[in-house]
Amino acid sequence: MFAIGLDFEARRVAELDLPEPDAPGPGQLRLRVLEVGLCGTDRELSEFEIGEPPPGEHALTLGHEALAEVVEAGPRTKLQPGDLVAPLVRRPCLPGCAACRRLRRDLCLSGGYTERGILGLHGYLREWVVDDESDLVAVPADLASIAVLAEPLSVVEKGLTTAERVHPLGPARALIFGAGPVGLLAALACVARGWEVEVFSLEPPNHPNAELARRGGARYSNETPSAKADVVLECSGAPAAARQGLDWLAPLGVMVLIGAADFDVRFPGFRTVMENQTVTGVVNASPEHFATAVSDLARFDRGVLQAMIHRRALKDWRAALGGEGAEAPKSVLAVAG
Ligand SMILES: [Zn+2]
Ligand SMILES: [Zn+2]
Repeated sequence: MFAIGLDFEARRVAELDLPEPDAPGPGQLRLRVLEVGLCGTDRELSEFEIGEPPPGEHALTLGHEALAEVVEAGPRTKLQPGDLVAPLVRRPCLPGCAACRRLRRDLCLSGGYTERGILGLHGYLREWVVDDESDLVAVPADLASIAVLAEPLSVVEKGLTTAERVHPLGPARALIFGAGPVGLLAALACVARGWEVEVFSLEPPNHPNAELARRGGARYSNETPSAKADVVLECSGAPAAARQGLDWLAPLGVMVLIGAADFDVRFPGFRTVMENQTVTGVVNASPEHFATAVSDLARFDRGVLQAMIHRRALKDWRAALGGEGAEAPKSVLAVAG
């Protein structure tokens, strides 16, 4: 079966020939992959900065943001052929740390987890896959054109859930650093919560991403944010943004780091104490956050979501991975047909 991934022996990204998956066992489903979204993680993988093939193999199929269709259901499953699903990325560690046992694989403490398309498990840039039903989130058919965004949104949902839980009075204003796909999804998620939202990024105000932020209901600025915020979301991955973000946190504010850059910032400890602030980081997402992401997609501005996506033919995978010719913030490869 056709697949695209990393050949760790030749150190190159290549078309792979993967064996067809077995028939689905109890609790499993055979899926036809419809499309796969690409992100910065895929670019880091392509440079062999991160990533690991499955044990005993020398290649790793890429693709961790996917939309798929059930084609065959194993015994004791609820989903049926024709149903659409968004797969989770991470698989819990075994036999299960305290977090994985409580269905919080995203908080895995042992480090023994695997991740489709990233760490020790083949991803979704291929025709077929068999997954456990517990690793899939059902997607209503009318969300088919945007559901590939469920995975990146799930991480945002996790960050916002934390911020809502931690902020003592409940947030009313959010400031988002970065106007890429994650920043734009964060803006839509904050607007949907009824907050006042500002996106701050380096692109000029006439940049298409800035336009999308405004269309989604956010204010956009590239010079200086207009006011401090109850929630600051760092979605750019730029160390300077993380440092700057701390200065725009209001009293009681919660800063959420989503962009995973390797950085150390000088931390304003005294102010954090005196203003009862919180700084937190989030990675990956639980099944619950995925489900929230899918239901939130239904209430976001559909036009903005669709304008965020540039669908490309599978044969253009190399250009898409390299970010060449991108016409929208999120490149999506059409895997099926
Ligand atoms: Zn991603
Ligand atoms: Zn674990």
